[in-house]
Amino acid sequence: MTLSDEMKLWQEQMQALLEQGEKLIARMDELEQQNKLLQEQVSREGLHSRSMQELSAIYDDGYHICHAGFGRPREGEDCIFCLTFLHTGGR
Ligand SMILES: [Zn+2]
Repeated sequence: MTLSDEMKLWQEQMQALLEQGEKLIARMDELEQQNKLLQEQVSREGLHSRSMQELSAIYDDGYHICHAGFGRPREGEDCIFCLTFLHTGGR
């Protein structure tokens, strides 16, 4: 194989890689678009507010929902961490 043959082969391989790269980028765009749609769907369905409602119910039942004491009984006392968590919506 001559040097120019090798160069040609190398160029072809480069071209193939570039095309593959372009396809991958297009695929990524597609997936990003899908992801965006799914996220919009999730927020529309209010998944977050539903789970906050459940956490609020657990707190009302007398258990901690804060990071510090999650699932432990509150023993009748309010917990500032739980209340802050509920107030800020866990964000
Ligand atoms: Zn707590």
